[in-house]
Amino acid sequence: MADLEFSRLVEFYERIEATSSRLAMTDLLVALFKRTPAEVIDKLVYLTRGTLGPDYEAPELGVAEKLAMRAVALALGVGARDVEAAYKRLGDVGSAAEELMKRSKPASILEFLGGGAEQRPLTVGEVYDALLKIARASGPGAQDTKITTLAGLLKRASPREARYLLRMVTGKLRLGVADMTILDALALAFGGSRSARPVIERAFNVRPDLGYIARVLAERGLEGVKEIRITVGVPVKPMLAERLSEPGEILAKLGGSCLAEFKYDGERVQAHKRGDEVLLFSRRLENITGHYPDVVEMVREHVRAGEAIVEGEIVAINPDTGEMLPFQELMHRRRKYEVEEAMERYPVSVYLFDILYVDGESLIDLPLPERRRRLEEVVEEGERFALARSKVVRSPEELMSFFEEAVAEGCEGIMCKSLGSDSIYQMGARGWLWIKFKRDYRYEMTDTVDLVVVGAFHGRGKRAGTYGALLMAAYSPEEDAFKTVCKVGSGFSDEDLLQLPKLLEPYRIEHRHPRVVSKMEADVWFVPAVVLEIIGSEITLSPMHTCALGRVRPDAGLAIRFPRFTGRYRFDKGPEDATTEEELVEMYKRQRKVAVPRAPAGEAA
Ligand code: ATP
Repeated sequence: MADLEFSRLVEFYERIEATSSRLAMTDLLVALFKRTPAEVIDKLVYLTRGTLGPDYEAPELGVAEKLAMRAVALALGVGARDVEAAYKRLGDVGSAAEELMKRSKPASILEFLGGGAEQRPLTVGEVYDALLKIARASGPGAQDTKITTLAGLLKRASPREARYLLRMVTGKLRLGVADMTILDALALAFGGSRSARPVIERAFNVRPDLGYIARVLAERGLEGVKEIRITVGVPVKPMLAERLSEPGEILAKLGGSCLAEFKYDGERVQAHKRGDEVLLFSRRLENITGHYPDVVEMVREHVRAGEAIVEGEIVAINPDTGEMLPFQELMHRRRKYEVEEAMERYPVSVYLFDILYVDGESLIDLPLPERRRRLEEVVEEGERFALARSKVVRSPEELMSFFEEAVAEGCEGIMCKSLGSDSIYQMGARGWLWIKFKRDYRYEMTDTVDLVVVGAFHGRGKRAGTYGALLMAAYSPEEDAFKTVCKVGSGFSDEDLLQLPKLLEPYRIEHRHPRVVSKMEADVWFVPAVVLEIIGSEITLSPMHTCALGRVRPDAGLAIRFPRFTGRYRFDKGPEDATTEEELVEMYKRQRKVAVPRAPAGEAA
């Protein structure tokens, strides 16, 4: 098989490291790609990125430095102490090995031995295969395999090669070659000019695997690359949104109307299903299947197609009430071990917002209304697996009202999506077909409020048979009425849950109490009597609640976001002593502004 000597690659790496110009770097890569046989160009591209394959499936390089030092000692026949001393002095195993080697075998002898049997030159293919073997070694004996395989390579390496080998194997090869530079170089090397770049980039969006793309280009040219199709099991680069903060501006940008969707505050997921096999990928295209066995099960059960790729958001929820929790809660699911236990303790819901592929058909070039229709066809909704809440909006007021509803329910804001005939799924691109509308700051609720229980919702899961959440109201002395501000399901101890139905039973009535003003339909209604102390994260506007309705904004009332029972029953207070509507308006106005921290792109944690 045609191959490339590893020493040639190292030569290029040295030159790449020496340049700070991106153009010069691209030229060097073009020259390198042109002289690399097609059979190993994929391996060469992976190594240059410091990986062993595409990010979504490659095993990680990253042998511990201690282990690498043992391999160096073994290969050179020197003491572990010597290696350690050199490492301490130079701060890098690669440089340490290089120096020790130069000392033990003078350069002239090395050059002389270049073609000898023992010194058969290393090739790119061999190095890649050995590194893959090292990365995959597991179980008992893995350490030995890693050390002997690495030592085997080092024995045949020149000092310079050893430096790079060790940097690669410890995951410290930092050439600084960006994927975009590799794409440019591929376009120049195999497409003749930069104008080939869009075709190659499209292939890269559908199959974010630069090694594979390089190989197809080298073997079959641009025509081959044009045939690369969306494939179940290979994550597609996700579509991204632009951001605006004016409802009027958003609608103008989207042609006067749009599909507004709740912007759930969780982790993005691209779910790939083939028969019973399901793979989950994150926004950064990492394979996160292992973190969410429950989501895998849901996809299996609720996606009615032999093959499909759907996209949505995984959101942490309170299992007893179904309420959404802030995204930080998902951190508990990013575990390698005890996944089952984490799954029980930190359950999630999935809200789907797109479909990219179904049974042999790519849907990415269809407009959004069509994709949404296909999504509805394919997905059978369940309690924890549903379509993203959405609404076609045509005015800034409607948009604002939907936004407030989303925020009060625990979402970050809304996504406004074009419904135009050109509203395709724009892979890997941030564009104006999707516009996110979120808050730049939120407020902070610093004080507790005392609210009256006016209704309740049946519990699920652990809370079946008791109440899952209570409908809480503030008092309006002017109207002598109780107006709703939140549904509270958090903060209740097991004992509270046992006590509450008994405590509320005497007040239970068949219909809404005439002094209660509510837009929500509770499962059970009560005479306003029991007062509980509640704290929340902030007071927001909401079209769902009636407290101070229209006072701050037409059609919106006040709501408490992420409300929690503090544990204090205010038996000392009658319902008319509860926090008043007016007090809540004051609290809303006096809230302290705090900036909303931006999550690092694609990170759930
Ligand atoms: P970006 O992903 O745009 O680079 P980011 O990582 O900071 O930015 P956000 O600004 O929060 O993320 O907005 C985009 C993310 O919102 C999506 O990647 C997705 O995870 C999430 N999201 C939640 N609900 C929806 C929805 N209905 N449609 C699309 N994305 C949604």
